[in-house]
Amino acid sequence: MKLTFLGTSHGVPEKHRKCTSVLLTVQGKHYIFDAGVPLYTAVKRVGLDLHDIQAIFLTHMHGDHATGLIEFVDLATWYDKTLRPEIYLAEIAGFEGMAAWLQVTHGEDKRGEMPPMKEVSEGAFYDDGRVRITAINNEHLPNRPSYSFVIDAEGKRLVLTGDMGHDHYSDFPRPAYESECDLVVTEAAHCRLTDCMDVFGKLTTKKLIVSHIVPWNEPEAEKLKEMVSYPVETAFDGMSVEI
Ligand SMILES: [Zn+2]
Ligand SMILES: [Zn+2]
Repeated sequence: MKLTFLGTSHGVPEKHRKCTSVLLTVQGKHYIFDAGVPLYTAVKRVGLDLHDIQAIFLTHMHGDHATGLIEFVDLATWYDKTLRPEIYLAEIAGFEGMAAWLQVTHGEDKRGEMPPMKEVSEGAFYDDGRVRITAINNEHLPNRPSYSFVIDAEGKRLVLTGDMGHDHYSDFPRPAYESECDLVVTEAAHCRLTDCMDVFGKLTTKKLIVSHIVPWNEPEAEKLKEMVSYPVETAFDGMSVEI
């Protein structure tokens, strides 16, 4: 399977980084995590068939993870109605928000033509026989849902953190250091990476990729490479890795 970074910036875009979105390809099917970039455009630009998107998952509803979804959903209601991935929102209230926007765009109710949308729930919430996804609560938003995802496919395990809290990543998803992982992708906007050695010092992963990165954490990622026993890479827009 292969992971492609469509966007790697933190809460706002940078000159060479769009906001967060990651595309996982397993056996020719695509699974997208977060939509900080206009998704239809982004998938087209990397040369993939949009009809192979099986599902889209949002870790939480902040703009840098969610606003790129409306472009895809709009096009799926008029330009190509055969686009029907399952869409999992961290909060289902976003469905009505998109429906209201599309009503203004088109001058008519588009609810019936929008792709199916569901809400992420804590625990194992998705399994299509190819990919199994478990959502783990984190502390990013007080009193609102925000998740990290553990993804199991082809006998391998990948952990993608959502945005976390500011307490030295104490809410880092536990499977990243309590089970063998093939890859962990961490956000890098809410703590200085080298202040979080309680987490990074005990990860049990074959590789760590740093994404959702703020400029001041870029040198921190370089320092981290010298402080841990597994390889560390900093993601860039368009980067692909085989897992
Ligand atoms: Zn974010
Ligand atoms: Zn956020």
